[in-house]
Amino acid sequence: MKFTILSLFPEMFHDVFSHSILKRAQQSDLIEFEIINPRNYADNKHMTVDDYPYGGGNGMVIRADVIFNAVQSVCNKCSAKPYIILLSPSGSVFTQRKAEFYAGCYDHLLLICGHYEGIDERVLAIVDECISIGDYVLTGGEIPAIVIVEAVARLIPGVLGCSESAVNESFSFQLLEHPQYTRPRVFNGLEVPDVLLSGNHAEINRWRRKESLRKTLQNRPELLRNARLEANDGLLLAEILDEMSE
Ligand code: SAM
Repeated sequence: MKFTILSLFPEMFHDVFSHSILKRAQQSDLIEFEIINPRNYADNKHMTVDDYPYGGGNGMVIRADVIFNAVQSVCNKCSAKPYIILLSPSGSVFTQRKAEFYAGCYDHLLLICGHYEGIDERVLAIVDECISIGDYVLTGGEIPAIVIVEAVARLIPGVLGCSESAVNESFSFQLLEHPQYTRPRVFNGLEVPDVLLSGNHAEINRWRRKESLRKTLQNRPELLRNARLEANDGLLLAEILDEMSE
């Protein structure tokens, strides 16, 4: 999959993309990055990328024509149009579902990072979707773009070492993942649950499912509304509620 990122601060990406899974995935030709500075596409008299907001107010707004030119130049080089995402706090919220959708449906994502007060609204004319990574405001779209690249890239077959790794993680089935433990068996007096050392896989699976339900109920109860529940989950939830009321 190819990720093209339009950013006024391209150097912010270099370090992040040259480590760990993203580095390996590039070396294996599973993903490819192209970082483009829209500043190179400012063809107005003063080569500026931003200007004062019409109607007054604080800050500067990135010009639509600069972004149009940069997007056009990316599209001119491509045989198929990329899926174009504008990063904005007023977009719809990015979720694991969206990450799965992008990884499964597109070969090329183009992510547009705003800065300052944002981008001239007319850029929406060339955007397929406007995405926010959460209900808070960051200085620029660079970190949101990295978040999306990270979440999508690891779902591309072959990117993670073991193809199972992404399957049972938090949000895969609208449930949070069960707790994980590793050595030592006792740390600062805190023990690993006995069942995980029992070698009884049916019991381990039951425990993991129950703890996954417990964590979701305690931390993100709203997820349970859309969770893919299994036949035994009602019983497990009843046990959890009993334990919580004790
Ligand atoms: N004035 C804008 C507003 O109130 O909605 C905020 C602009 S913000 C300071 C500058 C840029 O950061 C945005 O154009 C966007 O690209 C990015 N950004 C900030 N918060 C974001 C978020 N939660 N999700 C996605 N992008 C965000």
